[in-house]
Amino acid sequence: MGEELKDKLLLKREEGWKNVDEKQNQDIMKLSEEYMTFLNNSKTERDFIKSAKKLADENGYTDIINKTELKAGDKVYFINREKSMYLAIIGENDIQENGMQIIGSHIDSPRLDLKPNPLSEEGGMAYFKTHYYGGIKKYQWTTIPLSLHGVVVKTNGEKVEISLGESEKDPIFTITDLLPHLAQEQMEKKLKDGIEGEDLKLLIGSIPANDDKAQEKVKLNILKLLNEKYGITEADFMSAELELVPAFNARSLGFDQSMVAAYGQDDKVCAYTSLSAMMSLEKVKNTAICILSDKEEIGSMGNTGMESHMFDFFISEILNKLGINKPNLLDKVFCFSKMLSSDVDAGYDPIYAAVSDNLNAGYLGRGITLNKYTGARGKSGASDANAEYVAWVRNILEKNNIKYQITELGKVDIGGGGTIAYILANKGTDVIDCGVPVLSMHSPYEVTSKYDIYSAYQTYSAFWKE
Ligand code: MN
Ligand code: MN
Repeated sequence: MGEELKDKLLLKREEGWKNVDEKQNQDIMKLSEEYMTFLNNSKTERDFIKSAKKLADENGYTDIINKTELKAGDKVYFINREKSMYLAIIGENDIQENGMQIIGSHIDSPRLDLKPNPLSEEGGMAYFKTHYYGGIKKYQWTTIPLSLHGVVVKTNGEKVEISLGESEKDPIFTITDLLPHLAQEQMEKKLKDGIEGEDLKLLIGSIPANDDKAQEKVKLNILKLLNEKYGITEADFMSAELELVPAFNARSLGFDQSMVAAYGQDDKVCAYTSLSAMMSLEKVKNTAICILSDKEEIGSMGNTGMESHMFDFFISEILNKLGINKPNLLDKVFCFSKMLSSDVDAGYDPIYAAVSDNLNAGYLGRGITLNKYTGARGKSGASDANAEYVAWVRNILEKNNIKYQITELGKVDIGGGGTIAYILANKGTDVIDCGVPVLSMHSPYEVTSKYDIYSAYQTYSAFWKE
């Protein structure tokens, strides 16, 4: 009787791996391999968009700019300034009455950007000065190999692409730290002050130019090398976007290889799984939209972030090219739409258990996590998903046998966070956060479970097929 009641009434919380059969295990491992390969080529938003465009082109998607009209089954995308992308499959149902089914992730990750005047020389060493992007623990970014990615645009419009430090043949860069022998004072500081933002200076060279009259000979020699290789001068850094990311690759983690360790899994794990779920879709009932957004880590501002009108423009173009657009239709379509804000969640870390409410934490290996709300303190800044919508999403997961957990980001009043959920919710769309739990989030080497990566893929497929 007790067992029967328990089975009927209690919420089951169990490891996903428990019921994985041989075939499913192969699918889980295969997806993770593909994910890791994709990640290694897509560490920055510009690199991610390149990889995503290639995948979309191979799967029959067309740039919406090249289409004059659209019909059910058409697959289109729009790339916004090489840094964000929206994809769509036009649904069979009337978009005016049924809205869209949107999955939105972000492809920017915390990192170090070069300052606009980056190049300096001190004590016979040349450095690039940096400005960190997003919420990082600064001490984690010293003494690791870093690679340089991005573009330098000259005043004549010529764009020079730089990617250095990924190939074994390339040099890498690093930020030095003080030896323990002389770090007595540093070690007394608070962790957040141990490494100052201004001290995140990238070591880039040490050979002086062969010129007795020149000041800053090492800096001059670096400029000479950069000019020979890329045709750029010091002034060209003013119109550049150069990013430093960890030079190491995504790897399987653990004796059982159950996890993935990689840079930038927030939020490329959700971006990749949603993109790849979309690639396997053919016909959909309601128009399916995949958002790969930029600038989430700094508040989604700017014209490549989700706060901009670029996404509205894309949906308006769909309505125009379906030949149905009229005043206020865009607003109506948003109000009738549903969205999964696919962003990562804080995974429960037993070493730091004190920050989690273990009844409401996201555990690695127990499947996709739903966050009804995020925010801080008294849910401040949260988009709180409506119970009716949460039930609708639960129903999809349960009928497709997908393991899920509903979670909060840490204990009450411990901290907080947010995603792009509120932006679409403010347009009237039903939204819930739905992603993969991560350990060491925002660090150079984040950890996820392969089981959860697979369940994210299953969730996003099932959502669009609903
Ligand atoms: Mn995120
Ligand atoms: Mn983040």
